[in-house]
Amino acid sequence: RGQSAAPGSLADALKGVKLKLVTISGKGGVGKSLVTASIAVGFAMRGYKVGVLDGDVYGPTVPKMLGVSNSTLFVDERTGKIVPVTGPLGIKVVSIEFALPSDDTAVIWRAPLVNQALRDFIAQVDWGSLDLLVVDLPPGTGDAPLTIAQSLQGGLDGSIVVTIPTEISRRIVLKSVDFSRKLNIRVAGVVENMCCFKCPDNGKIYYIFGRDAGRRVAEAAGVPFLGGIPIDPELSHYLDSGRLHEFLAKENDTARAVLAIVDQL
Ligand code: ADP
Repeated sequence: RGQSAAPGSLADALKGVKLKLVTISGKGGVGKSLVTASIAVGFAMRGYKVGVLDGDVYGPTVPKMLGVSNSTLFVDERTGKIVPVTGPLGIKVVSIEFALPSDDTAVIWRAPLVNQALRDFIAQVDWGSLDLLVVDLPPGTGDAPLTIAQSLQGGLDGSIVVTIPTEISRRIVLKSVDFSRKLNIRVAGVVENMCCFKCPDNGKIYYIFGRDAGRRVAEAAGVPFLGGIPIDPELSHYLDSGRLHEFLAKENDTARAVLAIVDQL
């Protein structure tokens, strides 16, 4: 792979990357960024060299979860390449957010502009040698995720479909699996975020949206079910303060559930 990559091309930019995964979700707000960042942290905790490309132009939250938002990207004068920001555990982070002027800049670019920007962006990054690159795709199965996935096509080793256990999500998961298959990306599996809630008062587990929806939809689609992540106020607090890596180092039920998912990849 990548032997004949032309200098400056996307294939050239990614030639030192061993494994490339993408996270996808049919809609926003289901925890795709959480799963992306968790995969990165989980592999980095196991000693692998990891990079994250936050390609979710409409809600780039991965840098925030890793505590590196408000970073600036630099261009190496010698190579002319973009140098990724180094996050916790040495994770290399590149986000479209780093190229935007302020935190609350609404991205209202039209699709062709987004597509071109993303392609250019990805091709110009100096990832160096990595064991794993995780790419966070914009939500949905429309133009923006399609462009990134197509840009990376041929080199993508698998997709992770993130969902929440509601009835509407079921159809959306099937669409995401279909999206992956059309692009010839192997579906590594389905992650069910917000599967349940453990009551801190009595330790009882509540399946708020119903039980085993993620497992059933994975079965229906003929792809692996990777596991569920509980709704956890403490996790939410760590995410908001950019300390996902600290949370995952805690040996609590939620951290264990997340790392069990990562270990299957
Ligand atoms: P997406 O990338 O799909 O839009 P995010 O990963 O950004 O979704 O998650 C949406 C919001 O919900 C974020 O504020 C995140 O901190 C919070 N969140 C996601 N999953 C959980 C969870 N299991 N427990 C607590 N908060 C969560």
